[in-house]
Amino acid sequence: MTNQAGRFGIHGGQYIPETLMNAVIELEKAYNFYKNDPQFNAELTELLNEYANRPSRLYYARKLTETLGGAKIYLKREDLNHTGAHKINNVLGQALLAKKMGKTRLIAETGAGQHGVATATAAALMGMECVVFMGKEDTERQALNVYRMRLLGSEVIPVTSGTATLKDAVSEAMREWTNRISDTHYCLGSVMGPHPFPTIVRDFQAVISKEIKAQIMEKESRLPDAVLACVGGGSNAIGSFYHFINDKDVRLIGCEAAGRGIDTFETAATVNTGRLGIFHGMKSYFCQDEYGQIAPVYSISAGLDYPGVGPEHAWLHDIGRAEYVPVTDDEAVDAFEFLSRTEGIIPAIESAHAVAHAIKIAPKMDKNQIIVITVSGRGDKDCAAIARYRGEDIHE
Ligand SMILES: *Cc1c(COP(=O)(O)O)cnc(C)c1O
Repeated sequence: MTNQAGRFGIHGGQYIPETLMNAVIELEKAYNFYKNDPQFNAELTELLNEYANRPSRLYYARKLTETLGGAKIYLKREDLNHTGAHKINNVLGQALLAKKMGKTRLIAETGAGQHGVATATAAALMGMECVVFMGKEDTERQALNVYRMRLLGSEVIPVTSGTATLKDAVSEAMREWTNRISDTHYCLGSVMGPHPFPTIVRDFQAVISKEIKAQIMEKESRLPDAVLACVGGGSNAIGSFYHFINDKDVRLIGCEAAGRGIDTFETAATVNTGRLGIFHGMKSYFCQDEYGQIAPVYSISAGLDYPGVGPEHAWLHDIGRAEYVPVTDDEAVDAFEFLSRTEGIIPAIESAHAVAHAIKIAPKMDKNQIIVITVSGRGDKDCAAIARYRGEDIHE
Protein backbone atom coordinates (compact mmCIF):
# COMPACT_ATOMS: atom_id res chain seq x y z
CA MET A 1 0.00 0.00 0.00
CA THR A 2 2.92 2.33 0.55
CA ASN A 3 5.21 3.77 -2.05
CA GLN A 4 8.91 4.32 -1.34
CA ALA A 5 8.42 7.33 0.88
CA GLY A 6 5.92 5.60 3.15
CA ARG A 7 2.93 7.44 1.69
CA PHE A 8 -0.71 6.43 1.78
CA GLY A 9 -2.05 8.71 -0.93
CA ILE A 10 -0.99 12.18 0.23
CA HIS A 11 -0.73 11.01 3.86
CA GLY A 12 2.12 9.57 5.89
CA GLY A 13 5.73 10.48 5.12
CA GLN A 14 8.56 11.42 7.44
CA TYR A 15 8.22 14.93 8.87
CA ILE A 16 10.98 14.68 11.42
CA PRO A 17 14.09 16.58 12.51
CA GLU A 18 17.34 15.70 10.74
CA THR A 19 18.59 14.12 13.99
CA LEU A 20 15.93 11.38 13.81
CA MET A 21 16.54 10.44 10.16
CA ASN A 22 19.30 7.96 10.96
CA ALA A 23 17.10 6.19 13.50
CA VAL A 24 14.15 5.73 11.15
CA ILE A 25 16.42 4.67 8.27
CA GLU A 26 18.10 2.07 10.51
CA LEU A 27 14.68 0.85 11.64
CA GLU A 28 13.30 0.63 8.12
CA LYS A 29 16.32 -1.34 6.88
CA ALA A 30 16.13 -3.78 9.78
CA TYR A 31 12.37 -4.21 9.37
CA ASN A 32 12.63 -4.83 5.63
CA PHE A 33 15.13 -7.56 6.37
CA TYR A 34 13.44 -9.26 9.32
CA LYS A 35 9.88 -9.17 7.97
CA ASN A 36 11.00 -11.75 5.39
CA ASP A 37 13.28 -13.69 7.75
CA PRO A 38 11.79 -17.14 8.50
CA GLN A 39 13.61 -17.32 11.84
CA PHE A 40 12.19 -13.94 12.97
CA ASN A 41 8.69 -14.89 11.89
CA ALA A 42 8.88 -18.28 13.61
CA GLU A 43 9.99 -16.65 16.87
CA LEU A 44 7.25 -14.03 16.66
CA THR A 45 4.57 -16.61 15.95
CA GLU A 46 5.72 -18.64 18.93
CA LEU A 47 5.56 -15.57 21.19
CA LEU A 48 2.10 -14.68 19.90
CA ASN A 49 0.76 -18.20 20.34
CA GLU A 50 2.47 -19.40 23.50
CA TYR A 51 2.76 -16.14 25.42
CA ALA A 52 -0.05 -13.89 24.15
CA ASN A 53 -2.65 -16.66 23.68
CA ARG A 54 -3.22 -16.38 19.93
CA PRO A 55 -5.10 -17.09 17.80
CA SER A 56 -7.87 -15.17 19.55
CA ARG A 57 -11.38 -16.59 19.26
CA LEU A 58 -13.91 -15.54 16.64
CA TYR A 59 -17.00 -15.98 18.76
CA TYR A 60 -20.55 -16.19 17.40
CA ALA A 61 -22.58 -13.90 19.66
CA ARG A 62 -25.87 -15.75 19.46
CA LYS A 63 -27.73 -13.81 22.14
CA LEU A 64 -26.58 -10.45 20.83
CA THR A 65 -27.61 -11.51 17.32
CA GLU A 66 -31.06 -12.71 18.44
CA THR A 67 -31.65 -9.67 20.65
CA LEU A 68 -30.87 -7.24 17.82
CA GLY A 69 -32.78 -9.39 15.31
CA GLY A 70 -30.76 -8.70 12.16
CA ALA A 71 -27.27 -9.57 10.90
CA LYS A 72 -25.37 -12.46 12.40
CA ILE A 73 -22.73 -11.02 14.74
CA TYR A 74 -19.28 -12.42 15.49
CA LEU A 75 -16.88 -10.96 18.04
CA LYS A 76 -13.13 -11.06 17.44
CA ARG A 77 -11.90 -11.56 21.00
CA GLU A 78 -8.71 -9.52 21.31
CA ASP A 79 -9.78 -8.98 24.93
CA LEU A 80 -8.65 -12.56 25.61
CA ASN A 81 -5.01 -11.83 24.76
CA HIS A 82 -2.41 -11.66 27.52
CA THR A 83 -2.58 -8.14 29.06
CA GLY A 84 -6.18 -7.88 27.87
CA ALA A 85 -6.01 -6.08 24.53
CA HIS A 86 -4.64 -6.09 20.98
CA LYS A 87 -1.64 -3.94 21.93
CA ILE A 88 0.49 -6.97 22.81
CA ASN A 89 0.53 -8.04 19.10
CA ASN A 90 2.44 -4.92 18.10
CA VAL A 91 4.62 -4.76 21.19
CA LEU A 92 5.92 -8.33 20.91
CA GLY A 93 6.76 -7.70 17.26
CA GLN A 94 8.61 -4.46 17.93
CA ALA A 95 10.42 -5.77 21.03
CA LEU A 96 11.65 -8.80 19.08
CA LEU A 97 12.72 -6.56 16.20
CA ALA A 98 14.56 -4.24 18.61
CA LYS A 99 16.34 -7.18 20.18
CA LYS A 100 17.45 -8.46 16.76
CA MET A 101 18.76 -4.95 16.03
CA GLY A 102 20.93 -5.19 19.15
CA LYS A 103 18.92 -2.66 21.16
CA THR A 104 18.79 -3.19 24.91
CA ARG A 105 16.34 -0.48 25.88
CA LEU A 106 12.71 0.25 24.92
CA ILE A 107 10.98 3.59 25.32
CA ALA A 108 7.27 4.13 24.80
CA GLU A 109 4.51 6.70 25.18
CA THR A 110 1.24 5.88 26.85
CA GLY A 111 -2.10 7.58 27.41
CA ALA A 112 -4.31 5.48 29.63
CA GLY A 113 -1.39 3.18 30.30
CA GLN A 114 -2.45 0.22 28.14
CA HIS A 115 0.42 0.50 25.66
CA GLY A 116 2.84 1.29 28.48
CA VAL A 117 1.82 -1.85 30.36
CA ALA A 118 2.11 -3.97 27.19
CA THR A 119 5.59 -2.56 26.48
CA ALA A 120 6.69 -3.05 30.10
CA THR A 121 5.43 -6.64 29.83
CA ALA A 122 7.45 -7.38 26.68
CA ALA A 123 10.52 -5.69 28.20
CA ALA A 124 10.27 -7.88 31.30
CA LEU A 125 9.90 -11.00 29.17
CA MET A 126 12.84 -10.17 26.93
CA GLY A 127 15.11 -8.78 29.62
CA MET A 128 15.20 -5.25 28.23
CA GLU A 129 15.32 -1.92 30.03
CA CYS A 130 12.09 0.08 29.64
CA VAL A 131 11.13 3.72 30.13
CA VAL A 132 7.54 4.88 29.60
CA PHE A 133 6.54 8.52 29.06
CA MET A 134 3.10 9.39 30.35
CA GLY A 135 1.35 12.75 30.71
CA LYS A 136 1.34 13.81 34.37
CA GLU A 137 -2.41 14.29 34.15
CA ASP A 138 -2.75 10.66 33.00
CA THR A 139 -0.41 9.27 35.69
CA GLU A 140 -2.85 10.65 38.25
CA ARG A 141 -5.97 9.35 36.48
CA GLN A 142 -4.41 5.93 35.85
CA ALA A 143 -2.43 5.29 39.03
CA LEU A 144 -3.04 1.54 38.86
CA ASN A 145 -1.36 1.24 35.45
CA VAL A 146 1.59 3.30 36.70
CA TYR A 147 1.93 0.78 39.52
CA ARG A 148 1.72 -2.11 37.04
CA MET A 149 4.48 -0.71 34.83
CA ARG A 150 6.77 -0.20 37.84
CA LEU A 151 5.92 -3.69 39.10
CA LEU A 152 7.01 -5.04 35.71
CA GLY A 153 10.37 -3.34 36.18
CA SER A 154 9.86 -0.23 34.04
CA GLU A 155 10.50 3.39 34.81
CA VAL A 156 7.53 5.78 34.33
CA ILE A 157 8.34 9.41 33.58
CA PRO A 158 5.48 11.91 34.08
CA VAL A 159 5.41 14.52 31.29
CA THR A 160 4.42 18.03 32.34
CA SER A 161 4.65 19.90 29.03
CA GLY A 162 1.61 21.05 27.03
CA THR A 163 -1.63 19.59 28.33
CA ALA A 164 0.32 16.81 30.14
CA THR A 165 -1.56 14.11 28.22
CA LEU A 166 -0.93 11.56 25.45
CA LYS A 167 0.17 13.92 22.65
CA ASP A 168 2.79 15.42 24.97
CA ALA A 169 3.99 11.94 25.96
CA VAL A 170 4.50 11.12 22.25
CA SER A 171 6.47 14.35 21.73
CA GLU A 172 8.64 13.59 24.77
CA ALA A 173 9.33 9.99 23.67
CA MET A 174 10.40 11.29 20.23
CA ARG A 175 12.71 13.82 21.89
CA GLU A 176 14.23 11.09 24.07
CA TRP A 177 14.78 8.86 21.02
CA THR A 178 16.59 11.70 19.25
CA ASN A 179 18.96 11.94 22.21
CA ARG A 180 19.66 8.25 22.56
CA ILE A 181 19.44 6.15 19.42
CA SER A 182 22.39 3.75 19.83
CA ASP A 183 20.87 1.37 22.41
CA THR A 184 17.20 2.47 22.32
CA HIS A 185 14.18 1.51 20.24
CA TYR A 186 11.06 3.69 20.35
CA CYS A 187 8.19 1.21 20.61
CA LEU A 188 5.37 3.32 19.16
CA GLY A 189 1.87 2.27 20.20
CA SER A 190 -0.34 2.82 17.16
CA VAL A 191 -0.32 3.15 13.36
CA MET A 192 0.99 6.70 13.50
CA GLY A 193 4.17 8.73 13.57
CA PRO A 194 6.80 8.90 10.81
CA HIS A 195 7.34 6.11 8.29
CA PRO A 196 8.08 3.22 8.85
CA PHE A 197 5.96 3.07 12.06
CA PRO A 198 2.49 3.11 10.44
CA THR A 199 3.53 0.17 8.24
CA ILE A 200 5.35 -1.80 10.95
CA VAL A 201 2.52 -1.49 13.47
CA ARG A 202 -0.09 -2.32 10.81
CA ASP A 203 1.81 -5.44 9.76
CA PHE A 204 2.08 -6.65 13.37
CA GLN A 205 -1.65 -6.00 13.96
CA ALA A 206 -2.71 -7.52 10.62
CA VAL A 207 -2.68 -10.91 12.35
CA ILE A 208 -6.20 -9.92 13.50
CA SER A 209 -7.73 -9.84 9.99
CA LYS A 210 -5.62 -12.77 8.84
CA GLU A 211 -7.22 -14.84 11.60
CA ILE A 212 -10.73 -13.41 11.09
CA LYS A 213 -10.61 -14.38 7.43
CA ALA A 214 -9.53 -17.97 8.11
CA GLN A 215 -11.97 -18.34 11.02
CA ILE A 216 -15.03 -16.97 9.19
CA MET A 217 -14.27 -19.13 6.14
CA GLU A 218 -14.09 -22.12 8.47
CA LYS A 219 -17.38 -21.26 10.22
CA GLU A 220 -19.45 -19.71 7.39
CA SER A 221 -17.59 -20.55 4.17
CA ARG A 222 -17.90 -16.90 3.14
CA LEU A 223 -16.55 -13.45 3.93
CA PRO A 224 -18.38 -11.09 6.32
CA ASP A 225 -20.51 -8.21 4.99
CA ALA A 226 -18.91 -5.75 7.40
CA VAL A 227 -16.00 -5.49 9.82
CA LEU A 228 -16.27 -2.94 12.64
CA ALA A 229 -13.53 -1.66 14.94
CA CYS A 230 -12.92 1.40 17.11
CA VAL A 231 -10.35 3.96 15.97
CA GLY A 232 -7.98 5.89 18.22
CA GLY A 233 -4.70 6.06 16.34
CA GLY A 234 -6.20 3.18 14.40
CA SER A 235 -4.07 0.09 15.08
CA ASN A 236 -6.76 -2.43 16.05
CA ALA A 237 -8.93 -1.12 13.20
CA ILE A 238 -6.26 -1.36 10.49
CA GLY A 239 -5.31 -4.77 11.88
CA SER A 240 -8.94 -5.85 11.55
CA PHE A 241 -9.33 -4.34 8.05
CA TYR A 242 -6.02 -5.13 6.37
CA HIS A 243 -6.64 -8.53 4.80
CA PHE A 244 -10.10 -7.38 3.61
CA ILE A 245 -9.02 -4.19 1.82
CA ASN A 246 -9.03 -5.92 -1.57
CA ASP A 247 -12.37 -7.66 -0.86
CA LYS A 248 -14.53 -4.82 -2.10
CA ASP A 249 -17.81 -6.36 -0.86
CA VAL A 250 -16.67 -6.27 2.76
CA ARG A 251 -17.63 -2.94 4.34
CA LEU A 252 -14.90 -1.60 6.62
CA ILE A 253 -16.27 0.62 9.38
CA GLY A 254 -14.09 2.56 11.80
CA CYS A 255 -15.84 3.89 14.90
CA GLU A 256 -14.46 7.17 16.22
CA ALA A 257 -14.96 8.64 19.67
CA ALA A 258 -17.38 11.55 19.29
CA GLY A 259 -17.22 12.35 23.02
CA ARG A 260 -20.12 14.72 23.76
CA GLY A 261 -20.86 14.99 20.01
CA ILE A 262 -19.14 16.05 16.79
CA ASP A 263 -20.92 19.42 16.92
CA THR A 264 -19.27 20.21 20.28
CA PHE A 265 -15.62 21.00 21.12
CA GLU A 266 -15.51 17.94 23.37
CA THR A 267 -14.81 15.31 20.76
CA ALA A 268 -12.00 13.09 19.48
CA ALA A 269 -13.59 12.14 16.13
CA THR A 270 -10.62 13.04 13.94
CA VAL A 271 -11.83 11.93 10.51
CA ASN A 272 -15.26 13.46 11.11
CA THR A 273 -14.09 16.81 12.50
CA GLY A 274 -10.37 17.13 11.72
CA ARG A 275 -8.44 18.77 8.92
CA LEU A 276 -5.29 17.90 7.00
CA GLY A 277 -2.13 18.72 8.92
CA ILE A 278 1.36 17.63 9.92
CA PHE A 279 2.14 16.50 13.46
CA HIS A 280 4.15 13.78 15.18
CA GLY A 281 6.11 13.12 12.00
CA MET A 282 3.20 12.41 9.65
CA LYS A 283 0.73 14.07 7.33
CA SER A 284 -2.84 13.05 8.18
CA TYR A 285 -6.08 14.40 9.64
CA PHE A 286 -5.89 16.15 13.01
CA CYS A 287 -8.32 17.92 15.31
CA GLN A 288 -7.26 21.57 15.07
CA ASP A 289 -8.38 24.92 16.37
CA GLU A 290 -9.10 27.90 14.09
CA TYR A 291 -5.36 28.75 14.01
CA GLY A 292 -4.30 25.24 12.96
CA GLN A 293 -3.01 24.36 16.43
CA ILE A 294 -3.69 20.82 17.67
CA ALA A 295 -7.00 21.07 19.54
CA PRO A 296 -7.58 19.51 22.95
CA VAL A 297 -9.64 16.36 22.43
CA TYR A 298 -12.10 14.65 24.70
CA SER A 299 -13.66 11.20 25.01
CA ILE A 300 -14.80 9.10 27.94
CA SER A 301 -12.37 6.56 26.54
CA ALA A 302 -8.75 7.38 27.38
CA GLY A 303 -7.56 5.01 24.63
CA LEU A 304 -9.35 6.95 21.89
CA ASP A 305 -8.61 10.57 22.79
CA TYR A 306 -5.69 11.16 20.45
CA PRO A 307 -6.04 14.26 18.19
CA GLY A 308 -4.87 12.46 15.04
CA VAL A 309 -5.49 9.30 13.06
CA GLY A 310 -3.07 6.97 11.28
CA PRO A 311 -2.23 7.97 7.67
CA GLU A 312 -3.53 4.72 6.15
CA HIS A 313 -6.98 5.43 7.63
CA ALA A 314 -6.87 8.99 6.29
CA TRP A 315 -6.20 7.47 2.86
CA LEU A 316 -8.86 4.73 3.14
CA HIS A 317 -11.27 7.56 3.98
CA ASP A 318 -10.14 9.69 1.02
CA ILE A 319 -10.64 6.86 -1.48
CA GLY A 320 -13.93 5.82 0.11
CA ARG A 321 -12.75 2.28 0.92
CA ALA A 322 -13.53 2.57 4.64
CA GLU A 323 -16.24 4.51 6.47
CA TYR A 324 -15.56 6.42 9.68
CA VAL A 325 -18.55 6.99 11.93
CA PRO A 326 -18.82 8.98 15.17
CA VAL A 327 -20.05 7.32 18.37
CA THR A 328 -20.79 9.41 21.47
CA ASP A 329 -19.89 8.71 25.12
CA ASP A 330 -23.56 8.00 25.87
CA GLU A 331 -23.85 5.46 23.06
CA ALA A 332 -20.59 3.75 24.06
CA VAL A 333 -21.60 3.49 27.71
CA ASP A 334 -24.98 2.01 26.72
CA ALA A 335 -23.18 -0.54 24.52
CA PHE A 336 -20.69 -1.32 27.33
CA GLU A 337 -23.62 -2.26 29.59
CA PHE A 338 -25.59 -3.96 26.83
CA LEU A 339 -22.81 -6.35 25.77
CA SER A 340 -22.06 -7.13 29.43
CA ARG A 341 -25.68 -8.11 30.11
CA THR A 342 -26.33 -9.84 26.79
CA GLU A 343 -23.20 -11.92 26.33
CA GLY A 344 -21.43 -11.82 29.71
CA ILE A 345 -18.53 -10.02 28.02
CA ILE A 346 -17.40 -6.69 29.50
CA PRO A 347 -15.69 -4.86 26.62
CA ALA A 348 -13.12 -2.07 26.93
CA ILE A 349 -14.94 1.27 26.65
CA GLU A 350 -12.89 1.81 23.45
CA SER A 351 -14.27 -1.41 21.93
CA ALA A 352 -17.78 -0.47 23.14
CA HIS A 353 -17.71 2.28 20.49
CA ALA A 354 -17.66 -0.41 17.78
CA VAL A 355 -20.35 -2.42 19.58
CA ALA A 356 -22.52 0.73 19.73
CA HIS A 357 -22.40 1.17 15.96
CA ALA A 358 -23.20 -2.50 15.44
CA ILE A 359 -26.27 -2.01 17.64
CA LYS A 360 -27.36 0.73 15.21
CA ILE A 361 -26.80 -1.15 11.94
CA ALA A 362 -27.34 -4.85 12.71
CA PRO A 363 -31.15 -4.66 13.15
CA LYS A 364 -31.48 -3.05 9.70
CA MET A 365 -29.46 -5.80 8.05
CA ASP A 366 -30.67 -9.10 6.69
CA LYS A 367 -30.54 -12.25 8.84
CA ASN A 368 -28.19 -13.93 6.35
CA GLN A 369 -25.69 -11.06 6.51
CA ILE A 370 -22.65 -11.27 8.77
CA ILE A 371 -20.80 -8.63 10.74
CA VAL A 372 -17.59 -8.97 12.72
CA ILE A 373 -16.86 -6.61 15.62
CA THR A 374 -13.33 -6.47 16.97
CA VAL A 375 -13.42 -6.38 20.76
CA SER A 376 -10.04 -4.68 21.09
CA GLY A 377 -9.78 -5.13 24.86
CA ARG A 378 -11.48 -6.11 28.07
CA GLY A 379 -13.36 -3.66 30.23
CA ASP A 380 -12.27 -4.39 33.79
CA LYS A 381 -10.10 -1.26 33.68
CA ASP A 382 -13.16 0.87 32.86
CA CYS A 383 -15.66 -0.28 35.48
CA ALA A 384 -14.91 2.48 38.02
CA ALA A 385 -15.16 5.20 35.35
CA ILE A 386 -18.43 3.87 33.95
CA ALA A 387 -19.88 3.59 37.47
CA ARG A 388 -18.90 7.24 38.02
CA TYR A 389 -20.51 8.18 34.69
CA ARG A 390 -23.71 6.63 36.03
CA GLY A 391 -23.38 8.60 39.26
CA GLU A 392 -22.07 5.80 41.44
CA ASP A 393 -18.76 6.09 43.29
CA ILE A 394 -16.93 2.81 43.77
CA HIS A 395 -13.52 2.46 45.35
CA GLU A 396 -10.87 0.97 43.09
C1 LIG B 1 -5.23 1.65 22.92
C2 LIG B 1 -6.52 1.02 22.69
C3 LIG B 1 -7.35 1.37 21.60
C4 LIG B 1 -7.01 2.47 20.65
O1 LIG B 1 -5.85 2.31 19.91
P1 LIG B 1 -5.87 1.94 18.36
O2 LIG B 1 -4.46 2.15 17.94
O3 LIG B 1 -6.84 2.84 17.68
O4 LIG B 1 -6.30 0.51 18.25
C5 LIG B 1 -8.52 0.66 21.41
N1 LIG B 1 -8.90 -0.31 22.27
C6 LIG B 1 -8.15 -0.67 23.32
C7 LIG B 1 -8.64 -1.75 24.22
C8 LIG B 1 -6.93 -0.02 23.57
O5 LIG B 1 -6.20 -0.38 24.64
